Amino acid sequence: MNVKPRTSYGRGPLFMFVCVLALSVCASASPFYIVEVTAPDEVALADLLNCGLTIDNRVDRKVTFYVNEEELEQLKKLSYPLHLLETIPDGSSADKASGYTSYDQIGPLFSSYANQYPNIVQTGTLGQTPQYREIWAIKITLTPEQEADKPVVKYIAAIHGDEIVGVEMCLYFIQDLLENFGKNPFISDLIRKTVIWVVPIMNPDGHAAVSRYSAGKDLNRNFPAYGQHYSTTLFDGEPLGDEKVPVENGCIMRWHVRYPANLCANFHGGALLANYPYDNTPGISSGSPAISPDDDVFRYLALEYSRNNPPMYQSPIFPQGIINGSAWYSITGGMMDWHYRFLGCPELTLEISADKRPPASQLPRFWDENRDAMYAYLSAVHMGIRGLVKDRTTKLPLWAKVMTHDRAQPVFTSRAVGNYHRLLLPGTYNLTYQAPGYITYHADAIAVESSGTTRKDIFLSDGDVNQDGTKDAEDVQAVVNAALGKATSFDADVDGRGLSATDIQAVINAVL
Ligand SMILES: [Zn+2]
Repeated sequence: MNVKPRTSYGRGPLFMFVCVLALSVCASASPFYIVEVTAPDEVALADLLNCGLTIDNRVDRKVTFYVNEEELEQLKKLSYPLHLLETIPDGSSADKASGYTSYDQIGPLFSSYANQYPNIVQTGTLGQTPQYREIWAIKITLTPEQEADKPVVKYIAAIHGDEIVGVEMCLYFIQDLLENFGKNPFISDLIRKTVIWVVPIMNPDGHAAVSRYSAGKDLNRNFPAYGQHYSTTLFDGEPLGDEKVPVENGCIMRWHVRYPANLCANFHGGALLANYPYDNTPGISSGSPAISPDDDVFRYLALEYSRNNPPMYQSPIFPQGIINGSAWYSITGGMMDWHYRFLGCPELTLEISADKRPPASQLPRFWDENRDAMYAYLSAVHMGIRGLVKDRTTKLPLWAKVMTHDRAQPVFTSRAVGNYHRLLLPGTYNLTYQAPGYITYHADAIAVESSGTTRKDIFLSDGDVNQDGTKDAEDVQAVVNAALGKATSFDADVDGRGLSATDIQAVINAVL
């Protein structure tokens, strides 16, 4: 069999070049400490949660910090009960768990999958890390070389290099998908109608060193932060800002822009829960919930995962194993909030093992606990409203913003295909479709059922109502004639609310 050429999922050669050049400084040589500090009361807890140091976990009034020497001294000065849980020399842990997959195995493994399953697998790299490792990605769907009108789900693990159970769960998941294609009807159907991307190790340098960090940076605190680095969305003209973040984050950001996702999850260790947006809203203090416009959808998604992961669901600490990010502890610069706020993709942070590095002999048990959850969560992308947004005349796909009435967060079509997937629970919704240079279109009272998606394809008009290639007085006359009830060969309802004076006004505005 021919060796399948490796694909670069980014901006091609230029993209690779940028990633290689943007090297970060070397990791600091000083050790890190993992410490648990117990707040004596609620006021002290609020202070701890808002002190600005890196928090990794919180159970009631016990807060776990990742700190350097200087920060440790800061914490000691508080005179609260403090337990040193682990010292990490040189920013990496000496405690390398054996029996886990190494970074070096990923490339050859993915190549073998691409050879074995060429009709459903494409593999590639999102770019190189500061230490010249590849960020491997695998794309699993029927005819993966085509960009099709299918929802896209992405699983990403090891943004924290020392949280390694997620890596193994992603690898189990990939293998399970591939081995069952053509055998298990549910899995085969999922692969046919969904684009599934997996990046098992987002932070390969950290993974190789068994370190949380890359080049001394916590990648999940270094995405652009809402309110500091951006306030709207990429669609609304906000710059991507990929040159100002760690190399790995830039690679992930460009990949999300080029191949937009409709649902995403990133896997962590150190706790057992499904954490949903927001992790932070400016003005809301850490420890208090920061509620997003899609709170109902996020709670549903989080429960889809936890209900199918019994130890998570039965958590003695977090009811049903789910929690709002900010209610747990607030972080800024996290991937989850950025992906949702900036690109409109719902994402969860899944903490899947209380122990970050349990013995490898326990991995089959972890897979038992996560398998159904990973499938259930992925399947949840097939709910809500989906469709294509195209130019009414040329039928070309449009990059459009899709707003849901009473929800401030938009979603966007993919530029390549023009498809959108608006995750919504059963109910009736009013949607609005906007694209620059086009008349805004309203689709009211769209019913969403409890299973499957409701299809709504939209054709936007730029004001060229009679479709003769120009926008002029004839178009105004055409829409007036249509509104007066004269027979026309074209659809003059340009705003989606039936033929009326609003269509005439919209066309006048477009023509002027
Ligand atoms: Zn983590």
